[in-house]
Amino acid sequence: MTAKRPRKPGTLVGTLGRAPRKWLGAVSTPVFHASTILFPTVAELLAAMHGEHDGLTYGLHGLPTVTDLQNAIAELEGGHAALAVPSGLTATTLPLLALTKPGDHVLVTDVVYGPTRRFCELHLRRLGIEVSYYDPLVGSAIEREFRANTKLVFVESPGSLTFEVQDVSAIAAVAHARNALVVIDNTWATPLFFRAFDHGVDVSVHAATKYIAGHSDVLLGVIVASAATFPALHRMWTDMGITASADECFLALRGLRTLATRLDRQQASALKIAQWLRERPEVKEVLHPGLPGARGHALWKRDFKGATSLFGVVLHPVSETRIAAMLDGLELFSMGFSWGGFESLIIPTFPERSRTVTTWAPGGPCLRLAIGLEDPDDLIEDLAAGVARLTA
Ligand SMILES: *Cc1c(COP(=O)(O)O)cnc(C)c1O
Repeated sequence: MTAKRPRKPGTLVGTLGRAPRKWLGAVSTPVFHASTILFPTVAELLAAMHGEHDGLTYGLHGLPTVTDLQNAIAELEGGHAALAVPSGLTATTLPLLALTKPGDHVLVTDVVYGPTRRFCELHLRRLGIEVSYYDPLVGSAIEREFRANTKLVFVESPGSLTFEVQDVSAIAAVAHARNALVVIDNTWATPLFFRAFDHGVDVSVHAATKYIAGHSDVLLGVIVASAATFPALHRMWTDMGITASADECFLALRGLRTLATRLDRQQASALKIAQWLRERPEVKEVLHPGLPGARGHALWKRDFKGATSLFGVVLHPVSETRIAAMLDGLELFSMGFSWGGFESLIIPTFPERSRTVTTWAPGGPCLRLAIGLEDPDDLIEDLAAGVARLTA
């Protein structure tokens, strides 16, 4: 028999994480609501107690809807195994807690998601773990930031306000030479557009709340781990009792089925809109690594399989009142935190406020757009009217 060509991601999102024959032929794994699992005999109960039972043991330790999602995401990304947790924030913070101990030092990108940073500042420090921040564009020069006790490097690429692309392979090479682990927040790219484990990452985390679930109605995180890091993460996940619910995993599995299709469309729409914005006289710069000529494009092209639909815009200097006039009057774009859903969003951002070791001075105020599944021409019309209000 000849070896089969590996299936493509667009197919895998539909085939992974389901087993109709196990569930009376149902295409999708049902939602399992169970805490107690019953054992018919003492022998089986004792086997479960000793971890020698291969069925379910207790709801907290893995229900089929949850494990199907975990296995699907782990396989899509090429990791060893995955854990589902109640939010993206749990996914970013649990590895920081599980993979460090008092006296260790953690290096964190200066453009890290704000709540992850606050967790480091308040909780890692309180536990006696040193934290310092590094320039996301540092590449292999991150070596200079290492201390004798550096155990973990936290990467987020691209950053979700300013979209710096990190040289993850270079950072991972330095980290591994120093016996440190690399954890990436891979929410922007999803497992489809950045194969974190091919770039030397040890743990890849996702706010499945965003593109994977895709409909702005789910809070969920997924932690994908290498074989070496999985046991410590699984230990912490079990001991904190922090599984995601079967309902949320069901919705994320449903979202996963259309992830590749949605991302194709959202990628194309976002590029079209980014290109249109770049030509506008009111726009100073478009922050979109998938856009030729934009910051980070070369590295993005080297490492990524696609660009999702979240990007930034730097406007020429204009008052906050005019920006409010632009945004308040939009009809298709809404304003709200989060992104990755089917609906387009836009917000003003203030990236200079959240960093400490790098400066952000692009020469004008920033906006962030999340492009949804609407027709891009309608979105452009909405934006055109908005941009006209900037100077009205
Ligand atoms: C939204 C987000 C998170 C957190 O996800 P929640 O499910 O909202 O907790 C983590 N990282 C990034 C980059 C995000 O955008």
